Amino acid sequence: MANDYDVIIVGAGLGGLTTASLLTQRGQNVLIVDKHKLPGGYATNFQRGDFTFDASLHSFDGMIPGAYSYKVIEAAGIADKVEFIPHERLYTIKTLNHGEIVVNYQDLDGYILTLIQLFPEEKKAIRKLFAEMVKMYKDVGGFVFSRLPFLARLAATPVLYHKILRYERSTVKDFFLQYTHNEELIKILSAQWTYYGLPPERLAFGYFGYPTIDYLMNGGFCVKGGSQILSDALVSVIEKHGGTVKLSAPVRKIIVDKGRAIGVTIKGLGDIYGKKIIANANPYIISDLIGDSCPIKLNKNLSKSRPSNSGFQIYLGLDCELDQFGVAKEDSNKFIEGTGSLKEQFRLMMQSKVESNKTGYCLTYFSNADQTLAPAGKSTLGLFSLVGSKGWFDITKTEYREKKKNLTAALLEKAELELPGLGKHIEICETATPRTMRNFTGNYQGSIYGFEQSVHQNGLFNRFPQKYPIKDLYQVGSWTFPGGGYIGTMLSAQLLVGRYF
Ligand SMILES: Cc1cc2nc3c(=O)[nH]c(=O)nc-3n(C[C@H](O)[C@H](O)[C@H](O)COP(=O)(O)OP(=O)(O)OC[C@H]3O[C@@H](n4cnc5c(N)ncnc54)[C@H](O)[C@@H]3O)c2cc1C
Repeated sequence: MANDYDVIIVGAGLGGLTTASLLTQRGQNVLIVDKHKLPGGYATNFQRGDFTFDASLHSFDGMIPGAYSYKVIEAAGIADKVEFIPHERLYTIKTLNHGEIVVNYQDLDGYILTLIQLFPEEKKAIRKLFAEMVKMYKDVGGFVFSRLPFLARLAATPVLYHKILRYERSTVKDFFLQYTHNEELIKILSAQWTYYGLPPERLAFGYFGYPTIDYLMNGGFCVKGGSQILSDALVSVIEKHGGTVKLSAPVRKIIVDKGRAIGVTIKGLGDIYGKKIIANANPYIISDLIGDSCPIKLNKNLSKSRPSNSGFQIYLGLDCELDQFGVAKEDSNKFIEGTGSLKEQFRLMMQSKVESNKTGYCLTYFSNADQTLAPAGKSTLGLFSLVGSKGWFDITKTEYREKKKNLTAALLEKAELELPGLGKHIEICETATPRTMRNFTGNYQGSIYGFEQSVHQNGLFNRFPQKYPIKDLYQVGSWTFPGGGYIGTMLSAQLLVGRYF
């Protein structure tokens, strides 16, 4: 292995892999290393018996040629290597008071009509708020994919992409309140809030607006074969263009000399030098890896920042098809509303008290869209709830096993109400907890979306910066701008490369 690289990337999550792909295609000599034996970070698969499970992806927005989000797939060189399967039904919301609301593929207009039928007195408000969200989506897409150099783009933002600045300080709730005070409607409009980690009164509108419209206008997708296929495709582009991917290679130190990052120490490989170092591993790890050379400013920033929440995900392999439970072939994700207020639900989730029907949860019918994930006649299913990290790390192994077992049983009991008889058909049951998230990716406190996307930690000026206060050291992925999610982390790579490389 060469000992001098243009760029060394610490972490082969989606952010790191996309960056490596973009840089190697430009002819840069790149080394990307990961502590895990598989590339992808959260964007990975695992196998249990006959079943393949996608560890994270419930839905990937905007994967059609022509859509803004797809441009990053093309730029990363994987458009001909990955097949995106559309979710014929984007999602279904099972509400307490308005029955089941079905949102179809690429059907923003149909969704608007459904909402108007349910809330006729809010017709004007519904039309206006979606028209404004579409403008916001276009401004964000326009900004991210502008051909202008980054600083010129920033300077042009007040004129060309002014909605980005307009909502820099708005929460999702603030945004909706401009149009309606109907709490029921706001709850339905924010039904996917658990995908972003915060309830509408705390979630930054800037982070919610783009993907929400992207999902509604351009659709939600899964990756055929699971998200490992996406990560492996990025690896193949990197290697084809002369890059080096080293797995099972934990970085133990970032070497800093006279205020400049100059290399890394890798377990089993020793010191390797690079002109620039990019972190895809989270900034808390990076601060530790820098050690004594870590600037006080960075540690101060980290101590006042808040990581996003974690999640509790159950993966089930069933001995039957999903239609046995009345699930339609076109169903992909279903949000079950909880009986508590969103504030109460969030509080309970943060304490991992998600046993009762007070808290909502999400069902993902993985093998419906992608039948390659389960053998013929069988199926895979996911149950997801947001949970806090509190109480998962400071317990013994025995206590942990018990907690995981009890919560799994409780969520399965909830799902039984939705899919009667489910328990009799489970062949495989695997659960990921905050501890699992942290163990596999090193993400601080098992965080699943980087720093939480509150207005204080979101947007062009408030997100954790892509450049460290150490020369030649950068951050990419969910912890920096624009934020977590498949498309967020891939866009983060595109922005980093466009701005600094
Ligand atoms: C259960 C779940 C469901 C999700 N569902 C969706 C969804 O439906 N749609 C969506 O868009 N997003 C979803 N997400 C979020 C999405 O998966 C993440 O935001 C995204 O994959 C994070 O990518 P990243 O580049 O930030 O890196 P990460 O995936 O966090 O990877 C970081 C990498 O750094 C490596 N690393 C850490 N320390 C070291 C070290 N010392 N040396 C070397 N390597 C190191 C880790 O091994 C890891 O591979 C979900 C996440 C989870 C957990």
